[in-house]
Amino acid sequence: MTPRIAVVGGGMAAARFAERYGALGGPGTVTVYGAEPRAPYNRVLLAEVLTGRYDAESIALPLGGATARPGCEVVAIDPAARTLRLADGGVEEWDELVLATGANPVLPPVRGLRRADGYGLIEGVHTLRTLEDCARLAEEAVGAERAVVIGGGVLGVSAARALAALGVRTEIVHQAPHLIERQLDDEAAVVLRERLRALGVECYTGNRARAVHGGTGVPAPSLTAGRYPQAEGGGRVGAVELANGYRLDCDLVVLACGTRPRTALAHAAGLPVATGVLVDDGLAAAPGVSAIGDCAEHRGTVHGLAGPAWEQADVLARRLSGAEPGARYPGTRPRARLSTGGLEYAAFGTVDETLDPGLDVLRLTDATRGSYKKLLLRGDRLVGAILLGDLATVDALAGAFADGGALAGHPLHLLTQGTVMTGDVR
Ligand SMILES: Cc1cc2nc3c(=O)[nH]c(=O)nc-3n(C[C@H](O)[C@H](O)[C@H](O)COP(=O)(O)OP(=O)(O)OC[C@H]3O[C@@H](n4cnc5c(N)ncnc54)[C@H](O)[C@@H]3O)c2cc1C
Repeated sequence: MTPRIAVVGGGMAAARFAERYGALGGPGTVTVYGAEPRAPYNRVLLAEVLTGRYDAESIALPLGGATARPGCEVVAIDPAARTLRLADGGVEEWDELVLATGANPVLPPVRGLRRADGYGLIEGVHTLRTLEDCARLAEEAVGAERAVVIGGGVLGVSAARALAALGVRTEIVHQAPHLIERQLDDEAAVVLRERLRALGVECYTGNRARAVHGGTGVPAPSLTAGRYPQAEGGGRVGAVELANGYRLDCDLVVLACGTRPRTALAHAAGLPVATGVLVDDGLAAAPGVSAIGDCAEHRGTVHGLAGPAWEQADVLARRLSGAEPGARYPGTRPRARLSTGGLEYAAFGTVDETLDPGLDVLRLTDATRGSYKKLLLRGDRLVGAILLGDLATVDALAGAFADGGALAGHPLHLLTQGTVMTGDVR
């Protein structure tokens, strides 16, 4: 009998799994159930959709021969009976279940975010996770003059950059001492901050948003009057108050405070859940049930990034298609890359040498070009790197990092290939 594979969650991990399973000639039928009203798309490009560089169609992801069922929320799974229940009451059978339910934005503990009726966020406050979020934000950005982005990680930085590109004066409020603190060091963050300033984005780091206040009760001037329901106590958002008492007036707020894995289905079905759905090296959570992407927790790590989600999808496709029944996911070494209109950075592995006195550091800073590069080496092996503002050598670096072996030449080449060296090396 042809095995029926049900994938719950029509996002990036789901699409990658379906596409790879088909490409590997997997013998089963794959159905992708997605709660969003459209077939899977590349979520990483949402900021580019916001600026208008891409439209929704151009970021669609291929699904191989799988059947997409958009607008089909799965409300329960039964691993013993091997069935799932849809929001419309329909029950479907499966032989293998793949959970790829992704993650939800975290709402920070900021007073005044929620509407007085308790449903949703007050007008003018947005999250950015889906194309629908993106469309709403783009619509409001047209009439907005000032925006505050709460959270200065990868998502916050790319959202701020996109809003600035739309002509909205934008400020980032970030609790940590510097931007993208998990992947950049102090010096890279200084360069990033300057680049953001040049693009029209100011940053307030080491500072926490404490409250959101309503404005005058009147929507922003160029937004259609009376269009937005008024939240109790002052209408749509008008300002963000920081913990130091400073007040940033604004007519838009974007929340970019991280994500939390969507585990409710797995939890209700009695599957092992900690922060995410717990999976072994085969990405199995239970017999016949696997989990991949932002919802999965592997060896204590929930990655929350597209690269690991795709690697997990590839491994699972190899295992379930029969191409490599013993395929195992060893984990993903930390790496991140952002490349978006005027802002580029990449970071791999260990970026903080203070954590390990045995590391050598090579730095190249070029204030004129606004670039910063740093390599961390243990002997002749690359253990980490940051590139900011100039990614000319990123492929060579990524290759050396992934390879993990001894570097062939002087490591300086990994910083300067394809560039004119004008900075200082320390
Ligand atoms: C604006 C933005 C920028 C980003 N930039 C980067 C970046 O530069 N680099 C990077 O590595 N990562 C980035 N990410 C993170 C990256 O998008 C995620 O890591 C990736 O999408 C994870 O894929 P996933 O399939 O696990 O989850 P998702 O892509 O979120 O897909 C999960 C899907 O499951 C659906 N779903 C959930 N529950 C159910 C249910 N019960 N029934 C049916 N469907 C359900 C959801 O509606 C959703 O469509 C970014 C994310 C955002 C939002």
